[in-house]
Amino acid sequence: MQVLVYGAGQLAQMMYLDGAPLGINVMAVDVNNNAVVHPVSKAPLNYTLEQAIELADALTVEFEHVPEALLEQAEASGKLHPGIDAILVGADRVREKQLLSSLAIPNCPYQIVDDLAQLDSCVENLGERLIIKASRDGYDGYGQWRLKAASELPALKSQLAELDLKAVPLVVEKMLNFDREVSLIGARSPGGEVVVYPLAENLHHEGQLHVSVAPASASTAALNEQARDIFTKLVNGMDYVGVLAVELFQCGDELLVNELAPRVHNSGHWSQAGSPTSQFENHLRAVLDLPLGLACNTGGEAAVSAMINIIGCDDHQMALLSVPGVHFHWYGKSVRQKRKMGHINVTASGYAELGSKLQKLSEYLS
Ligand code: ADP
Ligand code: MG
Repeated sequence: MQVLVYGAGQLAQMMYLDGAPLGINVMAVDVNNNAVVHPVSKAPLNYTLEQAIELADALTVEFEHVPEALLEQAEASGKLHPGIDAILVGADRVREKQLLSSLAIPNCPYQIVDDLAQLDSCVENLGERLIIKASRDGYDGYGQWRLKAASELPALKSQLAELDLKAVPLVVEKMLNFDREVSLIGARSPGGEVVVYPLAENLHHEGQLHVSVAPASASTAALNEQARDIFTKLVNGMDYVGVLAVELFQCGDELLVNELAPRVHNSGHWSQAGSPTSQFENHLRAVLDLPLGLACNTGGEAAVSAMINIIGCDDHQMALLSVPGVHFHWYGKSVRQKRKMGHINVTASGYAELGSKLQKLSEYLS
């Protein structure tokens, strides 16, 4: 079977690596020049985009910011999963908020702003601590501004004056004092079969994911149930096919949706080592309408796991392989500041053991 992925980065690469043992071949499209390439070597394959679309059993994306004309061409083949509407929801915070409201899914209080004068009413309605997000083309904390006090409003307005808010409105959110950030990754197949992974707890630094731990510690059955309920409402509401990632804020016992990613997600990379079926394999299974694999932790060796992003550094610290349960995943990219270069997965029999392994890793990595 053949799957064509729009985007030729690390997510397509990891889909390729997990598809191979199943006899599933993954091809990638470099969306900058429409070349069809090998997801690992990035070498051009001998197909035009049209030929690859024809050859593929399913088309999918590794990121949501694929040019819309390409998405429309993919959708027209009848083989794009998730469908174009779900991908565009993930690419546009306004559509995302509209979807959450229409499905009555709890999320952060917000206002949509297409004129800077409206920021005053945001302060009145949401309070003076705000997080302001461009509705499109933001990622890893880019395209975001913070207001910490009403007195900063004039300075913020002049900073934002350049933006064309009629074309790309802002989503202005109340700054939440959440207890922690968690995410739920799950998959849905065309027939409506759903599997969800345990909640992962995510630690960010300067807007970028650094560490995920799964299952999130102290996640009660009620919390997992709440997350599963949110996930099911979302995927059924969108008639979604594939892996969907849901980023959530935990405030006390309540989960609020932060954002959705219509694809495999950095906070699900732990599943390569900590779950019987990785998110990449389950995504391929879902888009090809194959039975989904176990996503839950079955206990035993990999009872808990963590993922640490390697950011802006390509120092291959092979000595870390001496820590039992450590797995490297390098993406083969040239080094740049703040660029995700790879990640390390580590498994352990419990949180205490995981903690001491993470301690060892941080000593090496710092
Ligand atoms: P992206 O991941 O696309 O850059 P997010 O909306 O997830 O954008 O925001 C990045 C990070 O900023 C979040 O992971 C969280 O740490 C913080 N953040 C986002 N929205 C809020 C909010 N309403 N209140 C407090 N912190 C927030
Ligand atoms: Mg995010």
